[in-house]
Amino acid sequence: MEETVIKYRHCGSDVYSFSSYSQCQCPICHQTPTFGLLNAPVALSCPFTNGHKISCAFLIGSIHGPSYIGEWSDTEIHVGLSNSEGLVYNYTLSGVRRDAGGWERCVCVCVCAQLARSWDAELEKFSVLPDWTSERFEEERVFGSCCYGFALSFINHMLSRIGQQPLSRDQFTQRHVLPRIKAVSQYISIYHAISQHGFYTVNAPDDV
Ligand SMILES: [Zn+2]
Repeated sequence: MEETVIKYRHCGSDVYSFSSYSQCQCPICHQTPTFGLLNAPVALSCPFTNGHKISCAFLIGSIHGPSYIGEWSDTEIHVGLSNSEGLVYNYTLSGVRRDAGGWERCVCVCVCAQLARSWDAELEKFSVLPDWTSERFEEERVFGSCCYGFALSFINHMLSRIGQQPLSRDQFTQRHVLPRIKAVSQYISIYHAISQHGFYTVNAPDDV
C-alpha cells in the first residue's frame, strides 16, 4: 500500500483515487473536473506509522503486512510498545523481543504523555520479569493474545505510577484500539477498491 489516496467531490459523490493517476477523470460523468481552491482534491492521511520513529506508543502490527491489521483477530494481530530509541518491545513465543526493524508500517496508539517519564527504564525492567518467559506464553495463550497482555500490563503499571486506575482489556480496546482499527479497515477497503477498479465512490451528503 504505497500509493497516496486522494479524495474529491464530483457529480454529488465523494470520489477516491490514487494521486499517481496522471489526471483525475470523474468515474461517473467521465469528465475531467476543474478544481478551485475550495474543492481541490485532498490526500487521505495514511493510517500507518513507522513504529520505530514514535516513542512510548502502543503499536498494532501484523506479521502478514499492514493490510491485515483491519481484520481484528488474535492470529493476525501482533502488538508491541516502542521506546524512545526506536526499539519495539513485544512478547512472543520466544519471550520479549526488542525489535529494531519490522514495525515500519503499523498502527500507533499514543499513550498519555505523562507516562513518558522513565518509560524506557521501566519498560526494560518490566520486560525481564519472569511473567514474560516463553513457557508462560504457551500457558497464557488460551486467554487470548499474550502480546496484548504484555503491552497492556505495562501501560497499567505506568498508570499506577501516576496514581491512575488500571484499564481492563475491554476498556483499553474500546477506547483506544477499536476506533483506530475501524479507521484502518475503512482505509484498506477504499484502497483495495481503487486498486481493483481505479476509483471508489460514495454518495456525498447534500448539505456540504
Ligand atoms: Zn463527475
